[in-house]
Amino acid sequence: MTTSVPLLPGGLIEDGVLRRDFAFLPVDGRLELALADALDAATSTPAAVTGALQASLATLAGRAPERHRVDALCVADRQFLMRRLAALLGRHSGWYAATCVACKARFDFPLDPALLPFKPAGDGFPTARLTLGRRRLQLRVPTGADQIRVLGLPPEGRREALLRGLVEGDAGALPAELAPRHIDRCEAALEAVAPELACEVVADCPECGQRNQVEIDPYGALAHDPDLTLQEVHRLAWHYHWSEAEILAMPRGRRARYLELIDAARGMSQ
Ligand SMILES: [Zn+2]
Repeated sequence: MTTSVPLLPGGLIEDGVLRRDFAFLPVDGRLELALADALDAATSTPAAVTGALQASLATLAGRAPERHRVDALCVADRQFLMRRLAALLGRHSGWYAATCVACKARFDFPLDPALLPFKPAGDGFPTARLTLGRRRLQLRVPTGADQIRVLGLPPEGRREALLRGLVEGDAGALPAELAPRHIDRCEAALEAVAPELACEVVADCPECGQRNQVEIDPYGALAHDPDLTLQEVHRLAWHYHWSEAEILAMPRGRRARYLELIDAARGMSQ
């Protein structure tokens, strides 16, 4: 069996070359706190996603994860990377909570978000081609930058403003008045070429056996709580008298092991 390196579902086109490779930084306390700082500084979810990916990626398509390059990733790529980041941070150990639609019981089920399926990019990605009336249109799949661009607009105008920003070449190719059916057709053409992540899973209720559709937030890594990191730094510094910098630079697994040893020495576990 070969282990394959994961690739972005879509990828970045730079200088005419499509690249789908990426690498995350090793997870240590420095990354956890940098992530928290990035989230604090963000003013919206798409901005928080960009900040989180900038703080946690070592490389994106072979180069540094500069803001404009992270923003240029299509939405599914950004969700894909956030899922992998959630798996790397692994605070929740892959357990998700749900409430049964039939018997209302709360239950937990195991899931590795990095293993959720996704629809790969279609032919022609990132460009969708369609004919609207007699006009031939080229639209590019929306990116993080597009999401950020329309955030300041009233919600009812966002779909159309988003579409207008996606027209490639002649911006006049899109009619001045867009009927809802035109918007629907444009969105359908985009969906055909855009990659897409599964955001729902089926989980069986352990109480009554009911099959439940459970939504999985693609941006779960944004819920990362820096206070847990600080508490761990505090306990290790208290016990071993190591400096904050030394503890933050420690690989996450080693930090967890030392915390277990402290607990064991106190008779709290084992
Ligand atoms: Zn149930």
